[in-house]
Amino acid sequence: MAAIYRRIFCGIALLQAFVASSPLPLDTMPRYFQNTPITRRQVSVSQIEHELGPLLSPNSAIFLPSDPEWANVNERWNTLAPPDIEIVVQPAEESDVPIIVRYCNDNSFEFLAVNRGHGFTTSLGTFKGVQIDLKQLTAINIEKDRKSALFQGGAWAREVIGTLWDRGYVTSGHGRYEGLYGLVADNIIHLNVVLADGSVISVNKTSHNDLLWAMKGAGHNFGIVTSFKLKIYPKKVETWHYHNYFWTQDKLETVFEELNKIQDHGKSPVLLGSSYGQIYMNQSLSKTEAILWWTFAYAGAASEAENILRPFNQIEAISEEMGDVPYPDIVTPQNTDIASCGSAAYAISTVLLQTYNITAQRQIYDLFNRNAALYPELAETSRLYYEGYAVKGMQAVASASTAYPHRDENHLAFFATAVPKGSDLSDPAKTWAKDSWDLWNAGQPTRKPATYVNYATGNQYELLESIYGYESWRLERLRGLKNKYDPNNRFRFFVPIVAADEEPKRIHG
Ligand SMILES: Cc1cc2nc3c(=O)[nH]c(=O)nc-3n(C[C@H](O)[C@H](O)[C@H](O)COP(=O)(O)OP(=O)(O)OC[C@H]3O[C@@H](n4cnc5c(N)ncnc54)[C@H](O)[C@@H]3O)c2cc1C
Repeated sequence: MAAIYRRIFCGIALLQAFVASSPLPLDTMPRYFQNTPITRRQVSVSQIEHELGPLLSPNSAIFLPSDPEWANVNERWNTLAPPDIEIVVQPAEESDVPIIVRYCNDNSFEFLAVNRGHGFTTSLGTFKGVQIDLKQLTAINIEKDRKSALFQGGAWAREVIGTLWDRGYVTSGHGRYEGLYGLVADNIIHLNVVLADGSVISVNKTSHNDLLWAMKGAGHNFGIVTSFKLKIYPKKVETWHYHNYFWTQDKLETVFEELNKIQDHGKSPVLLGSSYGQIYMNQSLSKTEAILWWTFAYAGAASEAENILRPFNQIEAISEEMGDVPYPDIVTPQNTDIASCGSAAYAISTVLLQTYNITAQRQIYDLFNRNAALYPELAETSRLYYEGYAVKGMQAVASASTAYPHRDENHLAFFATAVPKGSDLSDPAKTWAKDSWDLWNAGQPTRKPATYVNYATGNQYELLESIYGYESWRLERLRGLKNKYDPNNRFRFFVPIVAADEEPKRIHG
C-alpha cells in the first residue's frame, strides 16, 4: 500500500496541497531571465519524488530504485552499455512532459525519454539521470478525415499495427509497408514536441518547418515527441502470405544471388513486404555449420506470392513452412514478435547495403563458423541478420527533403551476439562484430559505410557521417538547427549529432 501511495499521485486535492507547499520556487523568476539552471547538488531521489510527484497529473507514476518494479520498468533490449537511470517518471498526460523537463532543468538533472527500450547504441551508456518513461502515452485516434491518425509518443509497433488493422487501416514504417508508403518519417504530418527548455511547440509544414525536416531522421536530437499525426491507409488485403525456408550452407551463393535478383536494385515487388534472413548455429540441424533461415512475407494471395518466390522454391530446402495470416500476426512466423526480443548484453555491428556481394557473404559465413567453433558460449546466441524490404515508396521521396540520408540503400544486415554475464568474452564478441562489418564493407569497395540511424551501435568505427549522411550540408544543417532548438545539447544520448563534452551530475541516492 505504501509503495502504491508513493508512486501514484492520484487526487486533485493532494496535488493542489503539494503544489502549494512545494519547497522549490519553480517560477519565482521568469524563465527567460534564468541564464543557467539552478544547481542543487545534494537532492535525493525521494526528495525529487516529493517535489515532482505533486506537480504531475493524476495516475502519473514515479519509480525509485527501491521499488519492486524497478527492474521491469527499466528493462532494455541491450544491456551492454545501458543508461544509468536514477529515477523513472511516467507521465500520465502529455502536459506532464514539459513539467518534468522544466523540473529537470531547474535542478540540472539530465533527462532521457524512453519508449520500449530497444535503443541499443552505446552512447546511451553516457546517460545518468531521470528517465521519462512514455509507456502510459499510448493513445491512438483516427482523425475525422480517415487519412491520418494521432498517436501519442509512447505508442509502439504492436499496438499501432493491431489497433489500425482492427479498424481497417495500416500505416508505414521502416518495415513491411515501406515499399508502398515509405518510411515513418515520410508519413509524418504534425508533431507535438517538448523542447529542451520545456517549451511546447507544434512542428509541421507551417510551424517550425525547419525542425520538421530534422525530425524526419534525427528527431531524438531535438525534442520529446508527445504525440504525432501520421498518414494512414485503408487495408487492401485481409491476409499476408508467408513462406519460410531452412537451407544448408552449400546453398548460400544461390540464395544471395536470388535475393539480389528479386531486390533488383530497388525495384522489388512492392507487395513483397519483407524478406528476413538469419544465419545461425541450429544445433538440431548441424553442430559445425551454421544454417540459413529465410522468411518472406507478401501482402496478398498465396498464389501471387508463390509465383514471385518460385526461384527460392527451386533451392532445395531442409524444411519449409507457409501460411496466410492477418497482418498483425505476420510477426510470429517471421520471428519478429515480442517473444523474439530477449534482453542481453549484445555486441553488434550493422550495415546498409545496395546489393549483396556474394564473395563477402561467403567470407562472413566462414568467419561465423570459425568463431562459433572457437567460442561455443557465444555461438549459442550469435546471429547474422538480413533485412530486405520493398523500397519503392521510400525511394520515391526526394533525398534532400528529409534528414534521412540513405534512400539509395536496399538491404540492412547486422551481426549480434550476446556476451554471457560474467564471462571474459566481451572482446572476442566485439572483434567478431567488427570483422563481420569489415567484410561487409570490403564487399562494396566503391561505396562508403552506411548505417541506419535506429541500428547505430556507437562502435568507434561507425562514423557520424555514415549515419546522418556524407554530404557536408547535412550535418551542417542539423547542427545549425541543434544550435537553434537545443543549444545546451540536452538531447545527446541517442546517436548524438553533437557529442557530450561533460560528465553529467549525479543525483544522490
Ligand atoms: C530486436 C530489434 C528489432 C528491430 N526492428 C526494427 C525494424 O523492423 N524497423 C526499424 O525501423 N527499426 C527496428 N529496430 C530498431 C528500433 O527502431 C530502434 O532500436 C528504436 O530506437 C527502438 O525504439 P524504442 O522506443 O524501443 O527504444 P527507446 O530506447 O525507448 O528509444 C530510442 C531513442 O528514442 C528516444 N525516444 C523514445 N521515444 C521518444 C519520443 N516520444 N520522443 C523523442 N525521443 C524519443 C529515446 O530517448 C531513445 O534515445 C529494431 C531494434 C531491435 C532491438
